Amino acid sequence: IDFEHCGFPEALNHNLKKSGYEVPTPIQMQMIPVGLLGRDILASADTGSGKTAAFLLPVITRTLCESKTPSALILTPTRELAIQIESQAKELMSGLPRMKTVLLVGGLPLPPQLYRLRQHVKVIIATPGRLLDIVKQSSVELRGIKIVVVDEADTMLKMGFQQQVLDILENVPNDGQTILVSATIPTSIEQLASQLLHNPVRIIT
Ligand code: AMP
Repeated sequence: IDFEHCGFPEALNHNLKKSGYEVPTPIQMQMIPVGLLGRDILASADTGSGKTAAFLLPVITRTLCESKTPSALILTPTRELAIQIESQAKELMSGLPRMKTVLLVGGLPLPPQLYRLRQHVKVIIATPGRLLDIVKQSSVELRGIKIVVVDEADTMLKMGFQQQVLDILENVPNDGQTILVSATIPTSIEQLASQLLHNPVRIIT
């Protein structure tokens, strides 16, 4: 595939060019068409492979016309990763109407995050601990979530976040799309995948 032929909105094609994305990486070639179709995905991909844009492009395209409450949830193990994902998301969403993001991560003050959350955000980028705190105090609406991404799933498990991830996803409708990305696919990830994914397409790079 070629970015130009993906049927992305004009502003998104413009942003891809501006960011210097000309040729899709191998993981992007495999994930974008399947992601756009709304299928669940189990992908093995490392940092540096272009995996972030591989899930962000379908997330952006599939939530463009969704309304008021958050439509996509991206879970990642660390604050630093969340910040990187948000910065790529902002670059790609520039000029697209109503595509706001919020960062819900630990180690940063909560009130500004809650304030931002009330500004009709479309995409939540979160670490499990902070998001679960917010879920428990009923300060976030997750019933409109159509796409969930669990990024660096193997690191999530190593950091002991499995139960928190499962507890968060209890609050998300289970008829949406789920994308699980992991550097490695050990048995523990296969098990998590069988709990979270419906008939996934497997993408190994
Ligand atoms: P990631 O593997 O998602 O951490 O991405 C690694 C880096 O590659 C990031 O800085 C991206 O901005 C960049 N990148 C992702 N996809 C492309 C592409 N198709 N062409 C050029 N750079 C890209």
